Amino acid sequence: MQQLTIEEIQNFKGKYPKQLYLLFFTEMWERFTFYGNRALLMLFMVNYLQFSDEKSNLIYGTYQSLIYAVPVVGGFLADKFLGQRKSILWGGIMLVCGSFVMAIPVPASFFIGMGIMIVGNGYFKPNISTIVGSLYKHDDARRDAGFSFFYMGINLGGFLGALLCGWIGQKISWHLGFGLAGVFMIVGLITFYKTQHKLGPIGLPPSKENLAAPAVAGLKKEWLIYLLSILAVPIFILILNYYKIYSYIINPFGIIALVYVIYVASKLGKEAFLKIIAALLLIIFSGLFWAFYEQGGGSLNLFAERNVNMSVGSLQLSSAAVNNSIGSGFIVLLTPFFVWLWIWLNKKKMEPNAAMKFVLALLLLGLSFYIFVLGSRTASNGMVSLLYFALGYLVMTMGELCISPIGLSAITKLSPQKMVGLMMGVWFLASSYGQYLAGLIGSLMALPGEKEAGKVMPAAESLAIYAGVFTKIAWAAAACGIVLLLLYPWMKKMMQGIK
Ligand code: GLN
Repeated sequence: MQQLTIEEIQNFKGKYPKQLYLLFFTEMWERFTFYGNRALLMLFMVNYLQFSDEKSNLIYGTYQSLIYAVPVVGGFLADKFLGQRKSILWGGIMLVCGSFVMAIPVPASFFIGMGIMIVGNGYFKPNISTIVGSLYKHDDARRDAGFSFFYMGINLGGFLGALLCGWIGQKISWHLGFGLAGVFMIVGLITFYKTQHKLGPIGLPPSKENLAAPAVAGLKKEWLIYLLSILAVPIFILILNYYKIYSYIINPFGIIALVYVIYVASKLGKEAFLKIIAALLLIIFSGLFWAFYEQGGGSLNLFAERNVNMSVGSLQLSSAAVNNSIGSGFIVLLTPFFVWLWIWLNKKKMEPNAAMKFVLALLLLGLSFYIFVLGSRTASNGMVSLLYFALGYLVMTMGELCISPIGLSAITKLSPQKMVGLMMGVWFLASSYGQYLAGLIGSLMALPGEKEAGKVMPAAESLAIYAGVFTKIAWAAAACGIVLLLLYPWMKKMMQGIK
Protein backbone atom coordinates (compact mmCIF):
# COMPACT_ATOMS: atom_id res chain seq x y z
CA MET A 1 0.00 0.00 0.00
CA GLN A 2 1.27 3.44 -0.96
CA GLN A 3 2.22 5.39 2.15
CA LEU A 4 0.82 8.90 2.41
CA THR A 5 3.33 11.70 2.70
CA ILE A 6 3.08 14.35 5.39
CA GLU A 7 2.09 16.92 2.73
CA GLU A 8 -0.74 14.72 1.48
CA ILE A 9 -2.03 14.34 5.03
CA GLN A 10 -1.74 18.01 5.93
CA ASN A 11 -3.22 19.25 2.65
CA PHE A 12 -6.58 17.70 3.44
CA LYS A 13 -9.84 19.12 2.14
CA GLY A 14 -12.84 19.81 4.36
CA LYS A 15 -13.10 20.42 8.07
CA TYR A 16 -11.07 17.56 9.55
CA PRO A 17 -8.23 15.33 8.30
CA LYS A 18 -9.58 11.78 8.00
CA GLN A 19 -6.84 10.47 10.29
CA LEU A 20 -8.47 12.46 13.10
CA TYR A 21 -11.29 9.91 13.25
CA LEU A 22 -8.93 7.07 14.08
CA LEU A 23 -7.35 9.16 16.84
CA PHE A 24 -10.82 10.21 18.05
CA PHE A 25 -11.92 6.59 18.53
CA THR A 26 -8.63 5.37 19.97
CA GLU A 27 -8.65 8.16 22.56
CA MET A 28 -12.37 7.70 23.19
CA TRP A 29 -11.84 4.09 24.26
CA GLU A 30 -8.75 4.95 26.27
CA ARG A 31 -10.68 7.62 28.19
CA PHE A 32 -13.54 5.15 28.61
CA THR A 33 -11.06 2.91 30.41
CA PHE A 34 -9.53 5.73 32.40
CA TYR A 35 -12.76 7.38 33.55
CA GLY A 36 -14.55 4.05 34.00
CA ASN A 37 -11.76 3.03 36.33
CA ARG A 38 -11.61 6.44 38.03
CA ALA A 39 -15.33 6.40 38.84
CA LEU A 40 -14.74 3.37 41.07
CA LEU A 41 -11.48 4.21 42.82
CA MET A 42 -12.75 6.24 45.78
CA LEU A 43 -15.80 4.10 46.44
CA PHE A 44 -13.74 0.92 46.18
CA MET A 45 -11.19 2.15 48.71
CA VAL A 46 -13.82 3.28 51.21
CA ASN A 47 -16.28 0.40 50.81
CA TYR A 48 -14.19 -2.62 49.83
CA LEU A 49 -10.73 -1.93 51.20
CA GLN A 50 -12.27 -0.15 54.21
CA PHE A 51 -9.79 2.74 54.10
CA SER A 52 -10.74 5.93 55.94
CA ASP A 53 -12.08 8.88 53.93
CA GLU A 54 -8.87 10.77 54.52
CA LYS A 55 -6.54 7.96 53.43
CA SER A 56 -8.68 7.24 50.37
CA ASN A 57 -8.64 10.90 49.36
CA LEU A 58 -4.89 11.16 49.72
CA ILE A 59 -4.23 7.97 47.75
CA TYR A 60 -6.70 9.08 45.09
CA GLY A 61 -4.99 12.49 44.83
CA THR A 62 -1.54 10.91 44.60
CA TYR A 63 -2.71 8.50 41.90
CA GLN A 64 -4.40 11.24 39.87
CA SER A 65 -1.39 13.47 40.18
CA LEU A 66 1.00 10.68 39.13
CA ILE A 67 -1.25 9.85 36.19
CA TYR A 68 -0.67 13.35 34.83
CA ALA A 69 2.99 13.68 35.90
CA VAL A 70 4.42 10.61 34.17
CA PRO A 71 3.47 11.83 30.64
CA VAL A 72 6.51 14.15 30.86
CA VAL A 73 8.69 11.05 30.65
CA GLY A 74 6.39 9.38 28.10
CA GLY A 75 6.49 12.45 25.86
CA PHE A 76 10.26 12.75 26.18
CA LEU A 77 10.90 9.07 25.34
CA ALA A 78 8.63 9.34 22.30
CA ASP A 79 10.46 12.42 20.99
CA LYS A 80 13.89 10.91 21.53
CA PHE A 81 13.49 7.21 20.82
CA LEU A 82 10.18 5.44 20.36
CA GLY A 83 8.11 7.87 18.31
CA GLN A 84 4.48 8.44 19.20
CA ARG A 85 2.98 5.35 17.60
CA LYS A 86 5.02 2.74 19.44
CA SER A 87 4.50 4.72 22.65
CA ILE A 88 0.72 4.66 22.21
CA LEU A 89 0.69 0.91 21.54
CA TRP A 90 2.94 0.11 24.48
CA GLY A 91 0.97 2.46 26.76
CA GLY A 92 -2.29 0.89 25.60
CA ILE A 93 -1.03 -2.63 26.33
CA MET A 94 -0.04 -1.55 29.83
CA LEU A 95 -3.45 0.07 30.40
CA VAL A 96 -5.17 -3.19 29.47
CA CYS A 97 -2.85 -5.15 31.78
CA GLY A 98 -3.43 -2.65 34.61
CA SER A 99 -7.20 -2.92 34.32
CA PHE A 100 -7.13 -6.71 34.21
CA VAL A 101 -4.84 -6.91 37.23
CA MET A 102 -7.29 -4.66 39.12
CA ALA A 103 -10.05 -7.09 38.18
CA ILE A 104 -8.38 -9.87 40.20
CA PRO A 105 -10.38 -10.04 43.44
CA VAL A 106 -7.53 -9.85 45.97
CA PRO A 107 -6.68 -6.62 47.82
CA ALA A 108 -3.04 -6.51 46.58
CA SER A 109 -4.15 -6.31 42.95
CA PHE A 110 -5.47 -2.79 43.45
CA PHE A 111 -2.14 -1.01 43.95
CA ILE A 112 -0.30 -3.19 41.44
CA GLY A 113 -2.94 -2.41 38.82
CA MET A 114 -2.79 1.31 39.57
CA GLY A 115 1.02 1.27 39.25
CA ILE A 116 0.74 -0.33 35.79
CA MET A 117 -1.98 2.16 34.77
CA ILE A 118 0.23 5.11 35.74
CA VAL A 119 3.05 3.95 33.46
CA GLY A 120 0.65 3.05 30.63
CA ASN A 121 -1.05 6.41 30.76
CA GLY A 122 2.35 8.12 30.71
CA TYR A 123 3.10 6.56 27.33
CA PHE A 124 -0.36 6.94 25.88
CA LYS A 125 -1.84 10.28 26.89
CA PRO A 126 0.65 12.91 25.68
CA ASN A 127 1.54 11.12 22.49
CA ILE A 128 -1.89 10.72 21.00
CA SER A 129 -2.42 14.50 21.39
CA THR A 130 0.95 15.15 19.75
CA ILE A 131 -0.13 13.13 16.71
CA VAL A 132 -3.34 15.18 16.43
CA GLY A 133 -1.16 18.30 16.19
CA SER A 134 1.02 16.71 13.50
CA LEU A 135 -1.96 16.34 11.16
CA TYR A 136 -1.94 20.11 10.63
CA LYS A 137 0.43 22.58 9.05
CA HIS A 138 1.71 25.12 11.55
CA ASP A 139 -0.54 27.90 10.32
CA ASP A 140 -3.68 25.87 9.60
CA ALA A 141 -6.62 27.70 11.17
CA ARG A 142 -8.55 24.40 11.39
CA ARG A 143 -6.22 23.02 14.06
CA ASP A 144 -8.21 24.30 17.07
CA ALA A 145 -11.41 22.85 15.62
CA GLY A 146 -9.60 19.52 15.23
CA PHE A 147 -8.52 19.53 18.86
CA SER A 148 -12.04 20.46 19.96
CA PHE A 149 -13.41 17.51 18.00
CA PHE A 150 -10.75 15.25 19.54
CA TYR A 151 -11.73 16.60 22.97
CA MET A 152 -15.29 15.59 22.26
CA GLY A 153 -14.02 12.02 21.81
CA ILE A 154 -12.26 12.26 25.18
CA ASN A 155 -15.49 13.27 26.84
CA LEU A 156 -17.69 10.83 25.00
CA GLY A 157 -15.43 8.08 26.33
CA GLY A 158 -15.38 9.68 29.78
CA PHE A 159 -19.15 9.98 29.87
CA LEU A 160 -19.84 6.39 28.79
CA GLY A 161 -17.04 4.90 30.89
CA ALA A 162 -18.06 6.64 34.11
CA LEU A 163 -21.68 5.70 33.53
CA LEU A 164 -21.21 2.03 32.56
CA CYS A 165 -18.24 0.97 34.71
CA GLY A 166 -19.46 3.12 37.62
CA TRP A 167 -22.84 1.44 37.53
CA ILE A 168 -21.59 -2.15 37.00
CA GLY A 169 -18.81 -1.69 39.53
CA GLN A 170 -20.98 -0.23 42.25
CA LYS A 171 -24.10 -2.34 41.71
CA ILE A 172 -22.72 -5.71 40.57
CA SER A 173 -19.02 -6.18 41.29
CA TRP A 174 -16.14 -3.77 41.74
CA HIS A 175 -13.76 -6.11 40.01
CA LEU A 176 -16.06 -6.63 37.08
CA GLY A 177 -16.16 -2.85 36.70
CA PHE A 178 -12.35 -2.58 36.63
CA GLY A 179 -12.08 -5.44 34.16
CA LEU A 180 -14.77 -4.03 31.91
CA ALA A 181 -12.83 -0.77 31.67
CA GLY A 182 -9.85 -2.72 30.29
CA VAL A 183 -11.92 -4.56 27.68
CA PHE A 184 -12.68 -1.26 25.97
CA MET A 185 -9.01 -0.33 25.88
CA ILE A 186 -8.49 -3.46 23.76
CA VAL A 187 -11.02 -2.05 21.29
CA GLY A 188 -9.02 1.21 21.24
CA LEU A 189 -5.74 -0.64 20.73
CA ILE A 190 -7.05 -2.75 17.86
CA THR A 191 -8.52 0.40 16.24
CA PHE A 192 -5.16 2.12 16.41
CA TYR A 193 -3.07 -0.87 15.40
CA LYS A 194 -5.18 -1.65 12.35
CA THR A 195 -5.45 1.92 11.08
CA GLN A 196 -2.13 3.51 12.05
CA HIS A 197 -0.73 3.07 8.52
CA LYS A 198 -3.03 5.94 7.51
CA LEU A 199 -0.74 8.25 9.51
CA GLY A 200 2.01 7.91 6.90
CA PRO A 201 5.30 8.96 8.46
CA ILE A 202 3.67 10.71 11.44
CA GLY A 203 4.64 9.32 14.83
CA LEU A 204 7.39 7.00 13.59
CA PRO A 205 10.59 6.73 15.67
CA PRO A 206 13.03 9.59 14.97
CA SER A 207 15.76 7.03 14.19
CA LYS A 208 14.96 3.36 13.57
CA GLU A 209 18.66 2.48 13.64
CA ASN A 210 19.17 4.09 17.01
CA LEU A 211 16.16 2.26 18.43
CA ALA A 212 17.38 -1.10 17.11
CA ALA A 213 20.95 -0.57 18.33
CA PRO A 214 22.00 -2.82 21.20
CA ALA A 215 22.09 -0.90 24.47
CA VAL A 216 22.88 -3.21 27.39
CA ALA A 217 23.84 -6.89 27.27
CA GLY A 218 22.82 -7.15 23.62
CA LEU A 219 19.33 -5.86 24.42
CA LYS A 220 17.97 -3.42 21.83
CA LYS A 221 17.31 0.11 23.03
CA GLU A 222 13.59 -0.30 22.31
CA TRP A 223 13.31 -3.39 24.50
CA LEU A 224 15.40 -1.80 27.19
CA ILE A 225 12.87 1.06 27.36
CA TYR A 226 9.99 -1.40 27.69
CA LEU A 227 11.85 -3.35 30.34
CA LEU A 228 12.71 -0.23 32.33
CA SER A 229 9.10 0.93 32.23
CA ILE A 230 7.99 -2.40 33.71
CA LEU A 231 10.63 -1.98 36.39
CA ALA A 232 9.22 1.48 37.18
CA VAL A 233 5.89 -0.03 38.23
CA PRO A 234 7.04 -1.12 41.72
CA ILE A 235 8.28 2.44 42.36
CA PHE A 236 4.78 3.78 41.76
CA ILE A 237 3.24 1.04 43.90
CA LEU A 238 5.58 2.11 46.68
CA ILE A 239 4.65 5.78 46.30
CA LEU A 240 0.93 4.92 46.42
CA ASN A 241 1.51 2.97 49.62
CA TYR A 242 3.59 5.74 51.19
CA TYR A 243 1.50 8.55 49.73
CA LYS A 244 2.61 11.05 52.35
CA ILE A 245 6.04 11.31 50.71
CA TYR A 246 4.49 12.40 47.42
CA SER A 247 5.02 16.14 47.86
CA TYR A 248 8.78 15.48 48.20
CA ILE A 249 8.69 13.88 44.76
CA ILE A 250 6.36 16.05 42.69
CA ASN A 251 7.97 19.37 43.64
CA PRO A 252 11.58 18.58 42.68
CA PHE A 253 10.30 16.71 39.61
CA GLY A 254 8.33 19.78 38.50
CA ILE A 255 11.33 22.05 38.99
CA ILE A 256 13.69 19.70 37.12
CA ALA A 257 11.23 19.44 34.20
CA LEU A 258 10.85 23.22 34.04
CA VAL A 259 14.60 23.88 34.17
CA TYR A 260 15.22 21.21 31.54
CA VAL A 261 12.67 22.72 29.14
CA ILE A 262 14.13 26.21 29.58
CA TYR A 263 17.64 24.80 29.07
CA VAL A 264 16.71 22.97 25.85
CA ALA A 265 14.75 25.99 24.58
CA SER A 266 17.62 28.38 25.32
CA LYS A 267 19.67 26.63 22.66
CA LEU A 268 17.05 27.18 19.97
CA GLY A 269 17.42 30.86 19.18
CA LYS A 270 15.43 33.83 20.45
CA GLU A 271 12.16 33.34 18.53
CA ALA A 272 11.70 29.69 19.43
CA PHE A 273 12.76 30.45 23.00
CA LEU A 274 10.11 33.14 23.44
CA LYS A 275 7.42 30.83 22.08
CA ILE A 276 8.40 28.19 24.63
CA ILE A 277 8.24 30.78 27.43
CA ALA A 278 4.74 31.76 26.24
CA ALA A 279 3.79 28.06 26.20
CA LEU A 280 5.14 27.65 29.73
CA LEU A 281 3.06 30.60 30.95
CA LEU A 282 -0.04 29.09 29.38
CA ILE A 283 0.84 25.82 31.06
CA ILE A 284 1.15 27.49 34.48
CA PHE A 285 -2.28 29.11 34.13
CA SER A 286 -3.76 25.80 33.03
CA GLY A 287 -2.44 24.28 36.27
CA LEU A 288 -4.32 26.94 38.24
CA PHE A 289 -7.45 26.26 36.19
CA TRP A 290 -7.30 22.53 36.99
CA ALA A 291 -6.69 23.18 40.68
CA PHE A 292 -10.15 24.78 40.91
CA TYR A 293 -11.84 22.73 38.23
CA GLU A 294 -10.80 19.38 39.70
CA GLN A 295 -13.03 19.98 42.72
CA GLY A 296 -15.43 18.14 40.39
CA GLY A 297 -13.98 14.74 41.30
CA GLY A 298 -13.65 15.61 45.00
CA SER A 299 -15.48 18.25 47.01
CA LEU A 300 -18.22 18.79 44.41
CA ASN A 301 -19.06 15.08 44.73
CA LEU A 302 -19.69 15.60 48.44
CA PHE A 303 -21.49 18.92 47.88
CA ALA A 304 -23.75 17.22 45.33
CA GLU A 305 -24.51 14.42 47.78
CA ARG A 306 -25.11 16.59 50.83
CA ASN A 307 -26.49 19.86 49.50
CA VAL A 308 -28.03 19.48 46.07
CA ASN A 309 -31.65 18.49 45.70
CA MET A 310 -31.48 15.50 43.36
CA SER A 311 -35.19 14.88 43.03
CA VAL A 312 -36.75 15.49 39.65
CA GLY A 313 -40.52 14.96 39.92
CA SER A 314 -40.86 11.62 41.67
CA LEU A 315 -37.40 10.50 40.57
CA GLN A 316 -34.42 10.58 42.94
CA LEU A 317 -31.22 10.87 40.87
CA SER A 318 -27.87 9.53 42.04
CA SER A 319 -25.66 12.45 42.99
CA ALA A 320 -22.52 10.53 41.99
CA ALA A 321 -23.88 9.75 38.52
CA VAL A 322 -25.06 13.33 37.97
CA ASN A 323 -21.88 14.95 39.27
CA ASN A 324 -19.49 12.69 37.37
CA SER A 325 -21.13 12.63 33.97
CA ILE A 326 -22.79 16.03 33.64
CA GLY A 327 -19.56 17.85 32.68
CA SER A 328 -18.59 15.37 29.95
CA GLY A 329 -22.17 15.39 28.69
CA PHE A 330 -22.12 19.19 28.32
CA ILE A 331 -18.75 19.04 26.56
CA VAL A 332 -20.12 16.63 23.96
CA LEU A 333 -23.16 18.87 23.41
CA LEU A 334 -21.26 22.16 23.37
CA THR A 335 -18.27 21.19 21.23
CA PRO A 336 -19.99 21.63 17.82
CA PHE A 337 -21.02 25.13 18.89
CA PHE A 338 -17.50 26.08 19.97
CA VAL A 339 -15.96 24.60 16.83
CA TRP A 340 -18.35 26.70 14.77
CA LEU A 341 -17.73 29.78 16.91
CA TRP A 342 -13.92 29.77 16.52
CA ILE A 343 -14.14 29.21 12.78
CA TRP A 344 -16.75 31.94 12.41
CA LEU A 345 -14.68 34.41 14.45
CA ASN A 346 -11.60 33.44 12.48
CA LYS A 347 -13.34 34.26 9.21
CA LYS A 348 -14.26 37.65 10.62
CA LYS A 349 -10.60 38.08 11.70
CA MET A 350 -11.84 38.35 15.28
CA GLU A 351 -10.75 35.01 16.74
CA PRO A 352 -8.99 35.57 20.10
CA ASN A 353 -5.63 33.85 20.50
CA ALA A 354 -4.99 31.06 22.99
CA ALA A 355 -3.92 33.42 25.79
CA MET A 356 -7.16 35.39 25.52
CA LYS A 357 -9.19 32.17 25.43
CA PHE A 358 -7.41 31.15 28.64
CA VAL A 359 -8.46 34.48 30.22
CA LEU A 360 -12.04 33.69 29.22
CA ALA A 361 -11.74 30.17 30.63
CA LEU A 362 -10.62 31.42 34.04
CA LEU A 363 -13.36 34.06 34.18
CA LEU A 364 -16.00 31.47 33.24
CA LEU A 365 -14.62 29.12 35.87
CA GLY A 366 -14.95 31.88 38.49
CA LEU A 367 -18.49 32.55 37.34
CA SER A 368 -19.42 28.87 37.57
CA PHE A 369 -18.42 28.70 41.23
CA TYR A 370 -20.26 31.95 41.81
CA ILE A 371 -23.40 30.30 40.39
CA PHE A 372 -23.02 27.55 43.02
CA VAL A 373 -22.80 30.32 45.63
CA LEU A 374 -25.92 32.00 44.24
CA GLY A 375 -27.63 28.62 44.37
CA SER A 376 -26.72 28.29 48.02
CA ARG A 377 -28.23 31.72 48.77
CA THR A 378 -31.57 30.58 47.40
CA ALA A 379 -31.39 27.09 48.93
CA SER A 380 -34.28 25.73 50.90
CA ASN A 381 -33.48 23.69 54.02
CA GLY A 382 -29.84 23.70 52.99
CA MET A 383 -30.60 22.06 49.64
CA VAL A 384 -29.56 23.83 46.43
CA SER A 385 -31.74 23.53 43.36
CA LEU A 386 -30.46 21.08 40.71
CA LEU A 387 -30.98 23.83 38.17
CA TYR A 388 -28.29 26.02 39.74
CA PHE A 389 -25.98 23.03 40.00
CA ALA A 390 -26.46 22.18 36.32
CA LEU A 391 -26.09 25.82 35.28
CA GLY A 392 -22.82 26.08 37.23
CA TYR A 393 -21.52 22.98 35.45
CA LEU A 394 -22.64 24.33 32.08
CA VAL A 395 -20.60 27.50 32.57
CA MET A 396 -17.66 25.51 33.95
CA THR A 397 -17.53 23.26 30.88
CA MET A 398 -17.71 26.32 28.65
CA GLY A 399 -14.57 27.45 30.45
CA GLU A 400 -13.03 24.01 29.99
CA LEU A 401 -13.65 24.24 26.25
CA CYS A 402 -11.79 27.55 26.14
CA ILE A 403 -8.73 26.07 27.81
CA SER A 404 -8.29 22.33 27.49
CA PRO A 405 -8.55 21.63 23.72
CA ILE A 406 -7.15 25.09 23.00
CA GLY A 407 -4.13 24.46 25.22
CA LEU A 408 -3.39 21.09 23.59
CA SER A 409 -3.50 22.79 20.22
CA ALA A 410 -1.41 25.78 21.32
CA ILE A 411 1.34 23.54 22.69
CA THR A 412 1.67 21.83 19.31
CA LYS A 413 1.85 25.24 17.62
CA LEU A 414 4.30 26.92 19.98
CA SER A 415 6.79 24.05 20.33
CA PRO A 416 9.40 23.15 17.73
CA GLN A 417 8.73 19.71 16.22
CA LYS A 418 11.39 17.85 18.18
CA MET A 419 10.10 19.19 21.51
CA VAL A 420 6.35 18.69 21.06
CA GLY A 421 6.19 15.42 22.97
CA LEU A 422 8.13 16.81 25.89
CA MET A 423 6.02 19.98 25.98
CA MET A 424 2.83 17.93 25.83
CA GLY A 425 4.15 16.04 28.83
CA VAL A 426 4.78 19.31 30.66
CA TRP A 427 1.22 20.41 29.79
CA PHE A 428 -0.06 17.32 31.59
CA LEU A 429 2.37 17.93 34.43
CA ALA A 430 0.42 21.15 35.08
CA SER A 431 -2.72 19.00 35.35
CA SER A 432 -0.81 16.88 37.81
CA TYR A 433 -0.04 19.91 39.95
CA GLY A 434 -3.66 20.97 39.55
CA GLN A 435 -4.81 17.62 40.94
CA TYR A 436 -2.44 17.97 43.82
CA LEU A 437 -3.55 21.54 44.62
CA ALA A 438 -7.20 20.55 44.14
CA GLY A 439 -6.77 18.04 46.95
CA LEU A 440 -5.39 20.75 49.23
CA ILE A 441 -8.23 23.13 48.35
CA GLY A 442 -10.74 20.31 48.79
CA SER A 443 -9.39 19.56 52.25
CA LEU A 444 -10.38 23.12 53.25
CA MET A 445 -13.94 21.91 52.80
CA ALA A 446 -13.62 18.81 54.98
CA LEU A 447 -16.51 18.98 57.39
CA PRO A 448 -15.57 18.92 61.06
CA GLY A 449 -17.00 15.99 62.98
CA GLU A 450 -17.74 14.06 59.81
CA LYS A 451 -15.55 11.21 61.02
CA GLU A 452 -17.72 10.50 64.08
CA ALA A 453 -19.92 7.55 63.24
CA GLY A 454 -23.58 8.35 62.85
CA LYS A 455 -23.07 12.09 63.18
CA VAL A 456 -24.33 13.87 60.10
CA MET A 457 -23.95 17.61 59.88
CA PRO A 458 -27.22 19.48 59.19
CA ALA A 459 -27.43 20.49 55.51
CA ALA A 460 -27.61 24.21 56.30
CA GLU A 461 -24.29 24.04 58.19
CA SER A 462 -22.40 22.09 55.52
CA LEU A 463 -23.85 24.43 52.90
CA ALA A 464 -22.37 27.44 54.70
CA ILE A 465 -18.92 25.80 54.63
CA TYR A 466 -19.14 24.96 50.91
CA ALA A 467 -20.52 28.39 49.99
CA GLY A 468 -17.65 30.06 51.89
CA VAL A 469 -14.94 28.13 50.04
CA PHE A 470 -16.75 28.35 46.68
CA THR A 471 -16.85 32.15 47.04
CA LYS A 472 -13.09 32.18 47.55
CA ILE A 473 -12.58 29.87 44.55
CA ALA A 474 -14.80 32.12 42.40
CA TRP A 475 -12.72 35.19 43.21
CA ALA A 476 -9.39 33.39 43.00
CA ALA A 477 -10.18 31.96 39.54
CA ALA A 478 -11.35 35.36 38.30
CA ALA A 479 -8.21 36.97 39.75
CA CYS A 480 -6.02 34.49 37.84
CA GLY A 481 -7.90 35.44 34.68
CA ILE A 482 -7.25 39.12 35.32
CA VAL A 483 -3.53 38.54 35.95
CA LEU A 484 -3.30 36.73 32.61
CA LEU A 485 -5.20 39.58 30.99
CA LEU A 486 -2.58 41.99 32.32
CA LEU A 487 0.17 39.78 30.90
CA TYR A 488 -1.67 39.53 27.60
CA PRO A 489 0.16 42.21 25.53
CA TRP A 490 3.47 40.63 26.52
CA MET A 491 2.18 37.12 25.78
CA LYS A 492 0.91 38.19 22.38
CA LYS A 493 4.34 39.50 21.46
CA MET A 494 6.05 36.29 22.54
CA MET A 495 3.57 34.15 20.60
CA GLN A 496 4.58 36.01 17.42
CA GLY A 497 1.26 35.88 15.62
CA ILE A 498 0.45 32.32 16.62
CA LYS A 499 -3.20 31.97 17.55
N1 GLN B 1 -10.62 15.88 30.82
C1 GLN B 1 -9.48 15.89 29.99
C2 GLN B 1 -8.93 14.53 29.76
O1 GLN B 1 -9.19 13.61 30.44
C3 GLN B 1 -8.40 16.83 30.47
C4 GLN B 1 -7.84 16.43 31.77
C5 GLN B 1 -6.70 17.30 32.20
O2 GLN B 1 -5.81 17.69 31.45
N2 GLN B 1 -6.69 17.60 33.46
O3 GLN B 1 -8.16 14.33 28.87
